[in-house]
Amino acid sequence: MSADIIKKSAAELAGLISSGEASAVEVTQAHLDRIAAVEDSVKAFTHVDPETALAQARTVDERRAAGEALGPLAGVPIAHKDVFTTIDMPTTASSKILEGWRPPYDATVTRRLREAGLVILGKTNMDEFAMGSSTENSAFGPTHNPWDLNKIPGGSSGGSSAAVAAYEAPLATGTDTGGSIRQPAAVTGLVGMKPTYGGSSRYGLIAFASSLDTPGPLARTVLDAALLHEAFSGHDPMDSTSIDQPVPPVVEAARRAEVGGLRVGVVKEFGGEGYQPGVLARFHEAVEVLESLGAKVVEVSCPHFTYALPAYYLIAPSECSSNLARFDGMRYGLRVGDDETRSAEEVMALTRAEGFGPEVKRRIMLGTYALSSGYYDAYYGKAQQVRTLIARDFDAAFEQVDVLISPTTPTTAFAIGERADDPMAMYLADLCTIPSNLAGNAAISVPCGLADEDSLPVGLQIMAPVLADDRVYRVGAAVERALQDRWGGPLLAKAPEL
Ligand code: GLN
Repeated sequence: MSADIIKKSAAELAGLISSGEASAVEVTQAHLDRIAAVEDSVKAFTHVDPETALAQARTVDERRAAGEALGPLAGVPIAHKDVFTTIDMPTTASSKILEGWRPPYDATVTRRLREAGLVILGKTNMDEFAMGSSTENSAFGPTHNPWDLNKIPGGSSGGSSAAVAAYEAPLATGTDTGGSIRQPAAVTGLVGMKPTYGGSSRYGLIAFASSLDTPGPLARTVLDAALLHEAFSGHDPMDSTSIDQPVPPVVEAARRAEVGGLRVGVVKEFGGEGYQPGVLARFHEAVEVLESLGAKVVEVSCPHFTYALPAYYLIAPSECSSNLARFDGMRYGLRVGDDETRSAEEVMALTRAEGFGPEVKRRIMLGTYALSSGYYDAYYGKAQQVRTLIARDFDAAFEQVDVLISPTTPTTAFAIGERADDPMAMYLADLCTIPSNLAGNAAISVPCGLADEDSLPVGLQIMAPVLADDRVYRVGAAVERALQDRWGGPLLAKAPEL
């Protein structure tokens, strides 16, 4: 029974629980057993709490038995990226500086999902403060890709992608600042969605770059991602950048799954040199699939997208240098060298020197430099102007087409260690995802097959205008259905047994 349970989608599990065919406790236990069996090799979690999880599941079963009306995902287990605060579990952002920190409150995303009856299995590993594309920047060691344990699971939400791809959890949360949901989803054969900026609340999310950070879902099917998206999204008065508009009808769109008559634009700037041939081959097949389903595909140029990566690597470090100033050894977590011989400044310096990893320090230095007087206009100011040009490229493109598509990443999962000493190579992983962060629009990654060279998953990115999140689900679900007909089932079924 438990082997069957873990392979079911969240929608199926919710159905079994609401009809009484399975209890939330049974479903939770099956996932805890799976975690116990594979976690030694996958290392997706920073914290697993079986007792708390089973207690939450028991509550759902009791509420159901009492005849209470429960939400559409009640009793379904979930893993949270360790960047969302959780009142009953430590929250570390995979940094030594927050090791063991227990937040006094839940993030809005955590709280809404708790109220919706989802059962929290634990917290997932990530690149420290969400800075990275491989989860190798975690202070607690790397996470392994279930498709090939020597490969990275993507990042920064790599613990979440690995947990869902390894059937340790049917659903997970992530955050996407430059691609950290879509890229891990792409390289592990999952669905990962970056909602419209401001569509999901940042309250209780440990901040990296506040104008870019966006919580979103990771799941094995487009419908599951939509169900999770709907469960935690919507206006939040606790987040000043939260959009006060209804949540786009994402679940309805995922169920609709058709693209007849839709205009699809292939981004001319993304493809060709620097892209793995197997990634391009699968992408071109996806284009053909869309055409066969009745979409009109055209090429669209977004000339400023080539400047997105350099602009992002000024804007994101600038914002992080400001956000991470709060980790001073006075208020949270680690404190180093606190004795009567040292001043507060010395303690702060010692704490930050020991508490932050090398990538975080690199970004704080970059950002501090870019924001310093005399350089602000030349670097940060210029990057913000580029950001506007990118948003205008999107506006112009969306006058011609309904959605834009590209490969999600230029390559499949690379080997652990391969890019660890080469930040520039690492940064390239987000080449195609960053424009949607800079412009704030909706973008999803759905599986589109395995590359011939290495039999590893490739992702198709679908982008839509701000607040048209439903559109990417509609297209993503249509592609998913057509490709699964071809594959004879989900792509993940092709992954080796762990
Ligand atoms: N990989 C990108 C970075 O290192 C994006 C990270 C993210 O989206 N959190 O900044």
